Amino acid sequence: MHNEPVDYLGVVLLVAVVAAAFVVIARAAVSQTRRVRVEQASQVRLARRAAEADVNSFGDEVSRLAVLADEDAQAADLYALVSALHAGAQQSLREASRPSDFGRVTAILAEGRWAAARLAACAAGQPSPARRPPCFFNPGHGPSATNVTWQRRSVPACAADAARIEAGADPYIRTVERDDRRVPYWEGGPAYAGWADGYYASWRGDGLVADIGPNNL
Ligand SMILES: [Zn+2]
Repeated sequence: MHNEPVDYLGVVLLVAVVAAAFVVIARAAVSQTRRVRVEQASQVRLARRAAEADVNSFGDEVSRLAVLADEDAQAADLYALVSALHAGAQQSLREASRPSDFGRVTAILAEGRWAAARLAACAAGQPSPARRPPCFFNPGHGPSATNVTWQRRSVPACAADAARIEAGADPYIRTVERDDRRVPYWEGGPAYAGWADGYYASWRGDGLVADIGPNNL
């Protein structure tokens, strides 16, 4: 049996080329994965800061409302609901690990703000307010009281912002951090999409919020 001479050099070169190609591809993949991870971590940091501010200011409101809990049984029930929603928002905030997770936090906050508005009405002996979307200028203001015309579109506004616009003043617009600048939240980019979605998603397609939202402005 005659053995063909083996081209060892060729084999070694082939292995070397394949290995080098593999290293290049693997490095590109690792670097791409790292870029995505760094970008996502930055988005989570920004969204967490916005959601945390909302959870904390809702916590302040829950504390202020505590005195109303003793008014009557209905007020006590509503206060228990408000407190439970605050605890739920805190829990969701702790568990959030992706930018979209913050929508869960803000959806609970929207429920909580509405329950707080019902509690305030109940304690004042007024009928329960109709459910409305959060104030467009800052969803942390709580449920809107009315719709106002602002920059040629109809947007839901809290009573304070509606009064400011009526008086010819500027509304108090929520700003967020983007590239070391403060911008209105609807210009905040993908980091805040989940955060804003939790507040407004259930109103999408509703005449009250029509085409507003960070993805449509
Ligand atoms: Zn407002």
